[in-house]
Amino acid sequence: MDSARSWFTKLQTREKSIGKKKELPPNGKEGGEEAPSSATKQRVAVAKQYIEKHYKEQMKKTQDRKERRCSLEKQLAENSNNMSEEEQHNIVKQYEKKETEYMRMQRHKMSVDDFDLLTMIGKGAFGEVRVCRDKATGNVYAMKKLKKSEMLRRGQVEHVRAERNLLAEVDHHCIVKLYCSFQDSEYLYLIMEYLPGGDMMTLLMRKDTLSEDEARFYVGETVLAIEAIHRHNYIHRDIKPDNLLLDRFGHLRLSDFGLCKPLDYSNFPDLNEKDVTSAKTQQMNGDGKQQSLPKRTQQEQLEHWQKNRRTLAYSTVGTPDYIAPEVLLKKGYGMECDWWSLGAIMYEMLVGYPPFYSDEPMTTCRKIVNWRTHLKFPEEAGLTTGAKELISKLLCNVDQRLGTKGAEEIKVFLVFFATCLAAMFFLGRFSKEI
Ligand code: ADP
Ligand code: MG
Repeated sequence: MDSARSWFTKLQTREKSIGKKKELPPNGKEGGEEAPSSATKQRVAVAKQYIEKHYKEQMKKTQDRKERRCSLEKQLAENSNNMSEEEQHNIVKQYEKKETEYMRMQRHKMSVDDFDLLTMIGKGAFGEVRVCRDKATGNVYAMKKLKKSEMLRRGQVEHVRAERNLLAEVDHHCIVKLYCSFQDSEYLYLIMEYLPGGDMMTLLMRKDTLSEDEARFYVGETVLAIEAIHRHNYIHRDIKPDNLLLDRFGHLRLSDFGLCKPLDYSNFPDLNEKDVTSAKTQQMNGDGKQQSLPKRTQQEQLEHWQKNRRTLAYSTVGTPDYIAPEVLLKKGYGMECDWWSLGAIMYEMLVGYPPFYSDEPMTTCRKIVNWRTHLKFPEEAGLTTGAKELISKLLCNVDQRLGTKGAEEIKVFLVFFATCLAAMFFLGRFSKEI
C-alpha cells in the first residue's frame, strides 16, 4: 500500500504545480468547471488501475491464506484420531511460522545480500541453484540464479516472467514453493524451499529401476502435481526426472517451470510428417529391428543411458526423451503433452532408460514422432500387463491418451493397477502355499 500512497502523493504534487501555473477564470474562483486535461485523465486512470490491481492482489492473498488455513484445519480434524493434541499443535505452529516467513519475504525488499550462499546443487544453461541461508532468520532455502542476458538472448523473458508468477501463485504440496524473487543488474533470483531429497534423475541413476509399487507411488504424486498446474491453466511441457524433486520425507514435488533451457525447442530439429513417413519406411525396409545401430540388451542400453545422462541434463538443449510427439511436430499442443512425459518417466522407472532413447537426440526425436513402431517393452524388464497398459495409454495419440479428459482417468487406472499388483502378490503367495 505504501507504494500506492507514494504514487498518489507524486500525482497530487504534480497536479498542484500544474494548478499554480494555471490562470484563474474571470470570476476569480478556482475552477472546478474546467475539464481536466487528457494527460491528467490518463494519469488518474493509471492510478485507479494500479490501486484496484493492488487491492485485488491483497484480497486474493488473504483469501488464499484463509483457504490454506481451512484446508489444514480440515485435514487435522480428519486425522484427529491418529494424532495427539501436541502433534496437531506442532503442525499448526510450523504452518504459522511458514506463513509468517512467506509474508515477511513478500514485504521486505530482499536482495542477494540477505543470504549466505552455501553448496551448489544444480547448474543449468541460465545459471545455477545453490543452498543458501537467510541471514536474518537462519532458514535454509534453494536459490536459483538466472542470467538475464542469457534469457534475453533466447527471447525467454516473457516466459520467465509468466512462469515465475505461476510458481508464486500455485500453492500445492506437490509443487515447489517459491518464497520470493528479486533481481540485480545481471541476474534474476528465485528463492524456493530447499528439498534435500535430491531429484528423481539421481535416484534412478542410483537404483537403475524401481519396483512397480515404488513407481506407482511416484507416478501418483506426479499426477497430483500435474493436475495442480493444469488447474491453473498452465502446461509444464518439460516434465522429466530432473525436475521431480524429493522432500525430506521422500515425497515428490514438481519444479523448474520451464524457466530455462529445454523450452528452447528451436534447438531441436524441425520434424514434420515427412520424417514420420520416412522413419516408417526405414522401419519397414529394415530387418524389423529398432534401427540400423547394433541392438543392445536392456542392460547394455541402461549402462549407455546412465553414462550419457548427466551430460544430457546439463547440455544447453536438454534431453528430448520426454517430449510429446505433438510438441516436436510443432503443430500445436495442449495439456495432454504433460501426460505423455509422465508415461515416458514411468517407462524409465521400470525399464531403466526412457522409451525412445538413442545415442543421437535427433534419432530420439524421430523415434518419438514415430512412436507406434518404436515403443517396445524389453522382456528382461519383466513389466506386468497393468504397467505396460498404463504406459501404453500415456504414450499414444492425444485423442486416446489417458488424462486428456482429466487427471481422474489416470488416478482410476492407478487404483486398478494397485489392485492388480495386490492380487498378483496374493495369488503368488497362494500358489506357493498350495
Ligand atoms: P535447470 O534445469 O534449469 O538447470 P532446475 O530448477 O531444474 O534448473 O534445477 C537444477 C537442479 O537443481 C535440479 O535438477 C535439482 O537437482 C536442483 N534443485 C533445483 N531446485 C531445487 C530445490 N528447490 N531444492 C533442492 N534442489 C533443487
Ligand atoms: Mg530442470
